[in-house]
Amino acid sequence: MIPIMEPWLDQQEMDRVMDCLKSGWISSQGKNIAEFEEAFSGFCRSRFGVATSNGTTALHLALLTLGIGPGDEVIVPALSFIATANVVVYTGARPVFVDVDEKTWTINPSLVKPVITERTKAIIPVHLYGHPADMDPIMKLAEEYRLWVIEDAAEAHGAEYKGHKVGTLGHIGCFSFYGNKIISTGEGGMITTDNSDWVEKARMLRDHGMSKERKYWHPVVGYNFRMTNIQAAIGLGQMTKLERLIEIKRGIADRYTQSLKKNAGLVLPAEEQWAKSVSWLYSILLKPETQKNRDDLIDFLAQAQVESRPVFYPIPDMPPYQGYGTYPVASRISKSGISLPSGFNLTCPEQDHVIQLIQRYLDR
Ligand SMILES: *Cc1c(COP(=O)(O)O)cnc(C)c1O
Repeated sequence: MIPIMEPWLDQQEMDRVMDCLKSGWISSQGKNIAEFEEAFSGFCRSRFGVATSNGTTALHLALLTLGIGPGDEVIVPALSFIATANVVVYTGARPVFVDVDEKTWTINPSLVKPVITERTKAIIPVHLYGHPADMDPIMKLAEEYRLWVIEDAAEAHGAEYKGHKVGTLGHIGCFSFYGNKIISTGEGGMITTDNSDWVEKARMLRDHGMSKERKYWHPVVGYNFRMTNIQAAIGLGQMTKLERLIEIKRGIADRYTQSLKKNAGLVLPAEEQWAKSVSWLYSILLKPETQKNRDDLIDFLAQAQVESRPVFYPIPDMPPYQGYGTYPVASRISKSGISLPSGFNLTCPEQDHVIQLIQRYLDR
């Protein structure tokens, strides 16, 4: 089976994990956590990093740190992984959905302003599939209406907007290190920010709300959102090859685009002139005039031992968010979109095989 994505792990990670096991530092104390926070936030050119147990807890922690809770509204794109909306619900706030842009599949800034109310506290743009959201108009609105901007950069480590790395454009950036992300710590996440007060608050909330001055004294109800020393060990190994992994991703995307652009039945991923995408999963649309069905293509590829997957469902299409509106662009992308094998180990012959299968399917 040609997988859609797989982590790249080598001796680096094995040695570092073995060091944890041999030394006994297997829980959430140990030198790797601070080192990984520094390495990753440094890579993003952000002042601080706060490592978490996963990307969802990073987003949740960002909202809690900014004081978002019951009665508040948070604007999120209609097309994303479900966690982007769920974290808003966890805090007691209400997600307000906005449709996405045709070209980048990220939140459409021109649709944000009409949904801002006096309850709106934050916007969570998502850099979906590794392409950055159009941040300037979002930051402008945020300034005008005094809103916080939390970037969901779970799929976009190293992506750039006008030369700046994602995770540094809004007030807080959130990353995931799940097994299929650009780099992985198994499970894991991180928030990035330049604000030292927020870092202090986030670290406190991450560790059961424990006072920094007085051990086992808990002035607030906190959480256990900690990353382990073992996760951070894997993360440090991953950091040594992050630049290279991004190059591999961009190479895979380039190669798909060069071959598939001849096919008039497909919409290929766009890269805005202000963007550097990291092409997390190379995802395409089947145009309606092809009269082909995305799910059939997934089955066709699966029969040839090629793994693919549908683009995310619009979040407001799913049961917990029924009644939160309908979003035509997100729906159209979701219905006809398919993500193709984008793993670091994808060989050129394998990729050619995938491309040929798609051509064959469309020519049927
Ligand atoms: C993966 C992902 C998350 C959640 O990250 P986990 O580490 O799986 O909790 C959040 N948002 C987006 C857009 C993601 O792709």
